[in-house]
Amino acid sequence: MLTERIFVPDGESALSDKSYLAWPWFEDRHRELAAQLQDWAAAKLPALLGDHRDPDASCRKVVAALGEAGWLDLAVPGEGAGFDLRSICLAREILARHAALADFAFAMQGLGTASITLFGTPQQRARWLPGARSGRHLTGFALSEPDAGSDVAAMGTRAREAPGGFRLSGIKTWISNGGIADQYVMFARDGEKYTAFAVAADAPGLKLVERIEIIAPHPMATLQFDDCFVPEDAVIGGRGAGMRVALGTLDVFRPSVGAAALGLARRALDESLSRAIGRPMFGARLADLQLTQVKLAEMALKVDAAALLVYRAAWARDRGGQQRITREAAMAKLYATEAAQEIIDDAVQIWGAAGVRSGAVVESLYREIRAMRIYEGASEVQKIVIARSLLKSE
Ligand SMILES: Cc1cc2nc3c(=O)[nH]c(=O)nc-3n(C[C@H](O)[C@H](O)[C@H](O)COP(=O)(O)OP(=O)(O)OC[C@H]3O[C@@H](n4cnc5c(N)ncnc54)[C@H](O)[C@@H]3O)c2cc1C
Repeated sequence: MLTERIFVPDGESALSDKSYLAWPWFEDRHRELAAQLQDWAAAKLPALLGDHRDPDASCRKVVAALGEAGWLDLAVPGEGAGFDLRSICLAREILARHAALADFAFAMQGLGTASITLFGTPQQRARWLPGARSGRHLTGFALSEPDAGSDVAAMGTRAREAPGGFRLSGIKTWISNGGIADQYVMFARDGEKYTAFAVAADAPGLKLVERIEIIAPHPMATLQFDDCFVPEDAVIGGRGAGMRVALGTLDVFRPSVGAAALGLARRALDESLSRAIGRPMFGARLADLQLTQVKLAEMALKVDAAALLVYRAAWARDRGGQQRITREAAMAKLYATEAAQEIIDDAVQIWGAAGVRSGAVVESLYREIRAMRIYEGASEVQKIVIARSLLKSE
């Protein structure tokens, strides 16, 4: 069992800037959603995560509560509803500002089912989505392997035809919700191409190899598909469509990683303001020193720039339906995660020694942000994606 702390703020700081909600790409329904989720998070999350020592149990509790309150409808939309990426990004930003584990739990229900929502058959949607939407079952997305992370096409997990279905063999690692999910979407090499499968966690031959502890505690594991049998109707989006399914899914969730980073960054800015205002120093306050003001100004600038890129990407997808938003998504994810890392580092500096004390909010933020620059496409990968989109028309 992991024993580290996860920050659970006791409500929203009065300093939190909400002026961005007036930006033109939000509609009234987005502003209402933000207000309601903010109230819900402030009221419910401290009790759900307050004395948290066990990320697995906390995740289950939070997913159940998110489902019961209807928030998971955003990540796992009902039949015919489709994704509204602005709503997903707002939800992730607000949840992350309160408690990173709550954002993680919300996001994983979406990431682990979006391939089915977007590319699944009506039967697959009926089988897997209601449980994920209600928070009754947890989901995972199994793409990465020990020798295939950024280089997804190097994946070694294989699908072989067998009577009535397929046999899957290989190792998937760094799988969020690994070991506690009830269902995974996984990807395997299928001849010259790749195929996506919906797999029940209790499928014969699907084994837990190890639980992985990381810098900020989240449920995570390495899984082995040991001649794991899945029926023919487990194929998502048709045989050979695996890369399209994976990239289509990541297109939705990549900007939302930026939104989660933005939530952590806003929290860091709030914490910095309250510390700078409250800390007496040299006969005045830390906030009165111009070097502090420069830091605060740069933090606020980066927060707004990140928000502009994140919600630009979300709006572009909502407006364009299924149209790819590869460049906008890459810019949003890249900038928001890199900027949040810098903002949080400055927040720790403003807090001084109290900022590196185990359990301090900014200390937790410092651990939480790091992995976001690596998963769902490392920053270097996003830069390559952006450059390719610029050079494509040459
Ligand atoms: C917290 C967390 C949660 C995760 N959850 C999941 C999950 O649920 N499901 C899943 O499938 N995977 C998950 N992952 C795995 C994640 O997707 C991979 O870590 C990511 O794709 C990078 O792969 P890698 O770790 O193997 O790094 P590598 O591919 O070995 O890359 C290492 C580094 O190389 C650099 N790099 C990459 N490409 C280039 C390039 N072209 N030029 C120069 N440098 C480059 C980057 O800095 C990169 O970070 C998770 C990872 C973390 C940390």
